[in-house]
Amino acid sequence: MTFDDVVKFHGHACPGLALGFRVSKLALKEFGLRAMDEELVAIVENDSCAVDAIQVVCGCTFGKGNFIFRDFGKQVYTFFKRPQPEALRIAVKWQPAPDDPETEAMWKRYSEGDRSPEVTLVVQDRKAKKMKTILAADDSELFEVKRVEIEIPEPARIYKSLTCSSCGEKVIEPRARNVNGQLLCIPCSSQ
Ligand SMILES: [Zn+2]
Ligand SMILES: [Zn+2]
Repeated sequence: MTFDDVVKFHGHACPGLALGFRVSKLALKEFGLRAMDEELVAIVENDSCAVDAIQVVCGCTFGKGNFIFRDFGKQVYTFFKRPQPEALRIAVKWQPAPDDPETEAMWKRYSEGDRSPEVTLVVQDRKAKKMKTILAADDSELFEVKRVEIEIPEPARIYKSLTCSSCGEKVIEPRARNVNGQLLCIPCSSQ
């Protein structure tokens, strides 16, 4: 799986994706092959571009249930292989080098909505350089890696479907709500 494969899935190349790619490679080095089934599990603590790389490279996907999102807004990724509780916790510690004053001024204009060709060119170039640095850096420059023991989250389960008595659509049992003796889906129960 190359960075190009990841870019194809994600839609564009960006520094966040490059970081996710490096995280994924490190996880695979530790745990071996990518997850065809759900034994390798990723716990991600953000929903940035980086997590798309993890789904493609590690085979930990939202739909398979071996990709767990915790909305902490942190660049932290934890991998483990069921049923072992020993996990690899990867925290991104990398900081881009400070911009030179000219680039910084251009970046400020860009963030204020300026999309003129001169500004866009500098911003694109800044992005490309950042990506290249990330892809070439040592793991030790990018990450703080720890081996930790975690409490294993419940695996994906198959639930019985019920029918919502208001809209008539199917809903899995744990998401059905009992409102005055009527079984309702969440959208209907909050109307
Ligand atoms: Zn992106
Ligand atoms: Zn309903």
